[in-house]
Amino acid sequence: MTKDQWGALQDSICKTIGENNYKTWIQPLSFDGMRDEGVVVLQAPTSFFGTYVSQNFGDLLLSQLSTVDTGVRRLAFEVANTRPSEPPRPARVEPPQAAQKDDLPGAPLDARFTFDSFVVGKPNELAHAAARRVAEGGPVTFNPLFLYGGVGLGKTHLMHAIAWELQARNPQLTVLYLSAEQFMYRFVQALRERRMMDFKEMFRSVDVLMVDDVQFIAGKDSTQEEFFHTFNALVDQNKQIVISADRAPDEIKDLENRIRSRLQSGLVVDLHPTDYELRLGILQTKVDSYRSLYPGLTIDEGVLEFLALRISTNVRVLEGALTRLFAFASLVGRPIDMDLVNDSLSDVLRASERKISIEEIQRKVAEHYNIRLSDMIGPKRVRNFARPRQVAMYLCKQLTRRSLPEIGRRFGGRDHTTVMHGVRRIEELRQSDSQIDEDVEMLRRALEA
Ligand code: ADP
Ligand code: MG
Repeated sequence: MTKDQWGALQDSICKTIGENNYKTWIQPLSFDGMRDEGVVVLQAPTSFFGTYVSQNFGDLLLSQLSTVDTGVRRLAFEVANTRPSEPPRPARVEPPQAAQKDDLPGAPLDARFTFDSFVVGKPNELAHAAARRVAEGGPVTFNPLFLYGGVGLGKTHLMHAIAWELQARNPQLTVLYLSAEQFMYRFVQALRERRMMDFKEMFRSVDVLMVDDVQFIAGKDSTQEEFFHTFNALVDQNKQIVISADRAPDEIKDLENRIRSRLQSGLVVDLHPTDYELRLGILQTKVDSYRSLYPGLTIDEGVLEFLALRISTNVRVLEGALTRLFAFASLVGRPIDMDLVNDSLSDVLRASERKISIEEIQRKVAEHYNIRLSDMIGPKRVRNFARPRQVAMYLCKQLTRRSLPEIGRRFGGRDHTTVMHGVRRIEELRQSDSQIDEDVEMLRRALEA
């Protein structure tokens, strides 16, 4: 993402949000650069301004940016510095927002990462409940709270939500959020500048410390050591600590044992991989928030279900897909339907291709209905075989990327119109026959597991 690309997007941003909004909120921003991990930094006149833009136009800006650069993940706002004699800014993104005291070396909090925008489902309900409890700010009951789980499952979102909530309940509280990488960076900087006392004092003076992606300090011995001391000092003062990592404490290699056991001494909760319902819920919430940004855009039923089925690993990728759909639809003035999905998301879909094969589906369905595979594929039209056959065709259409003619061929050389008829029939039956609906749902789960 470059300054020129940002410039070239202005017209379409203006068209989407209207001239008034554009002049008030977007024009005053200036493009600063793109940092690690796809963070695009924009300069805003004040910190409130940045937070407002992030909350109200953040998703829209992200979606527009991602049309020119798919590497863009997040926005960060810096307060524009007009004094020319100011020393150069440090390499890290500085916090512009009110939630962190100006002299603390924290990372910016994403205004979108609140409890309100976090969708709770089975896979994350424990982590969410624990985060809520910590965010209430009462007496410290478990220390640290250790959240772990795979990439894009909401660890950073929950940590930011805790920080926002604590800050809202008690503005006096000093909440410091930063990544383990930033912790190391600060530590090394303090060593270099011979300001270790300041460093220690500063970290020991916070009320709540949150360190994201702590697996990063594994193998980095002196950083680990310093982290350990900071950690102990805060626990001794009964200050809350929240840690995240991409795996459980005992699975982080090259971590000193005393640190490992410290990390395990509080509450350890994991975020499980998302399930279909949670993914659908997240998409629906997202669509609701897009509605006001893109008035007039229609979204076909079935598109969300398709995305929730097909993009199953990483919520970030799922959101990115939806964001891209909205951006494309608004750019080219098309409705969001399966055609648009196929035109604009082919790379995403290919990357998250399920490994479910037609054979697997046929075998599972035959087993479920207690018929032979050869009867399912064979020519017999008796109802006992025809219905399972249609269910299998329907699932092939839903769970694989095979075309109707291809599916037809694999069902004993049937015509694509036969497959289409079968798929439609099951769609209808799912509305009217709860037994069929349950069967299909159960089979889908079994195949996806
Ligand atoms: P992690 O830190 O675990 O890698 P993030 O917290 O950065 O993941 O989440 C990735 C993206 O997915 C973010 O945009 C976040 O808002 C979104 N996300 C993840 N889980 C949820 C959820 N349960 N509800 C709403 N959004 C979610
Ligand atoms: Mg994260």
